[in-house]
Amino acid sequence: MLVRYEPFIDGKSTPVNTEFFRPVNPATGEAYAEVSSGTAAEIDLAVQSSQRAFLTWKRTKPSERGRTLMRVANAIRENADKLAALETQDNGQPLNQSFGDVEVAARYFEFFAGAADKLHGDTLPLGTDYHSYTTREPFGVIGHILPWNAPLQQAARGLGPSLASGNVAVIKPASETPLSTLALAQIAFEAGLPAGVFNVVPGSGRVAGMALVQHPLVRKIAFTGSVETGAEIMQRASARVVPLTLELGGKSPNIVFEDADLDAAAKSAWTGFTIKGGQVCSAGTRLLVQDSVYDEVVARLVVRANSASIGPGSGSPDLGPLATRGQFEKVLEYIEIGKREGATLAAGGGRPEAADLQTGNFVLPTIFTEVKNEMRIAQEEIFGPVLSVIRFSHEDEAVRIANDSEYGLAAGVWTRDLGRAHRVAAQIDAGQVFVNEYFAGGVETPFGGFKSSGFGREKGFEALKNYTQTKTVTIRL
Ligand code: NAD
Repeated sequence: MLVRYEPFIDGKSTPVNTEFFRPVNPATGEAYAEVSSGTAAEIDLAVQSSQRAFLTWKRTKPSERGRTLMRVANAIRENADKLAALETQDNGQPLNQSFGDVEVAARYFEFFAGAADKLHGDTLPLGTDYHSYTTREPFGVIGHILPWNAPLQQAARGLGPSLASGNVAVIKPASETPLSTLALAQIAFEAGLPAGVFNVVPGSGRVAGMALVQHPLVRKIAFTGSVETGAEIMQRASARVVPLTLELGGKSPNIVFEDADLDAAAKSAWTGFTIKGGQVCSAGTRLLVQDSVYDEVVARLVVRANSASIGPGSGSPDLGPLATRGQFEKVLEYIEIGKREGATLAAGGGRPEAADLQTGNFVLPTIFTEVKNEMRIAQEEIFGPVLSVIRFSHEDEAVRIANDSEYGLAAGVWTRDLGRAHRVAAQIDAGQVFVNEYFAGGVETPFGGFKSSGFGREKGFEALKNYTQTKTVTIRL
């Protein structure tokens, strides 16, 4: 018997629908749950419930909202075993990385709990006859739409600033990975978050996702996912003049100069393209290496790739299976494209041979060298453990190649020269630049895209601005 999951609305599991989908364990290909496939009716129930909760939540003292979010943070940590196990079962990632995600999720609630009563406006100087000031007001019901690669972390990333600033949330997780978000809603409710402040409706993008975008009471959409879906949602939202945050894909350059600490750079570059099997929007999948150290950096990465452990996520290997069958097939297809385009295959290049890894979505960490930036494997987001290593000879060339992309999510720079670090960081077209540590930063550091990688910012105080609108009050005295 498969465990059955229903939407979480108004503080309880709410069976309404008779249609179900069955997420499968990416390590085995076996279904492990039946999840209600939400329709416009469930979305409407959830949005109406959130709208009712909004009327009280927005008037709750910010310090009290903060205390509630802090209790949620604590409850997330207390439920770490459960949440991490669900995440690994859903998307296949190594269990130790799921525990990392649980801690990050708790940190989001903790950070924004502390920020809830520090969001203030300005007073505006109009002379002694007027008093003018601004306040930051919540939008109301926010529709959050999540991808499958890191659902728990991304749910918390949106909920933290959204709820801290007085909004309420309806989340539609990806149909492949709904369980950790459903569990989070239950945990948050039990920790004291009022019913309806955070509802979850699992379901497909076409049905539940679209219903959420089009619901008249949803006053903002926070979308994380692919460029194509983001663009479609933007069109739909434009019909109702609903603001959006779009956190989309990337093809981020990671630039290693010859004066860098090569050992640290190679280790970090490895993590940059293999964590979560490379299914990370800000993964460093274009490694730009200066001529004089190119062979040395590649050699270190190839040794690392050839000794990587691969297996079911429950054993915390270096790489678990890819999250979905479709993604697995897409990544294998890109590996063939790389071979056809004439890049040199330096490591990996397909599935592992072990007999026990044949039913799951396992792919070897794959390194292509002598990649030209115009190749598809350097331009298109693969979203798997595939690295394209590109050669450059001088700084200007590195910047030019780094920026020659439709994406602009993140970039890495490796150098011991402080002047060069700042100079290159200033010229890179990306929402975040990591110097001497790929993925440097935390819940405090604003995150979002340039160019096709999207707009709006999550994380840090900047996110609070995204989830609020300015009201100006001017009084003639
Ligand atoms: P996707 O765009 O296919 O789906 C994302 C979500 O949108 C899912 O919940 C899906 O059901 C829903 N959806 C699909 N069609 C919809 C529609 N017409 N209306 C409303 N909702 C719809 O993305 P994915 O394959 O799940 O995720 C991978 C992508 O997400 C990658 O491109 C990755 O880079 C990106 N991503 C970005 C960030 C970031 O913070 N920038 C983080 C993680 C993932």
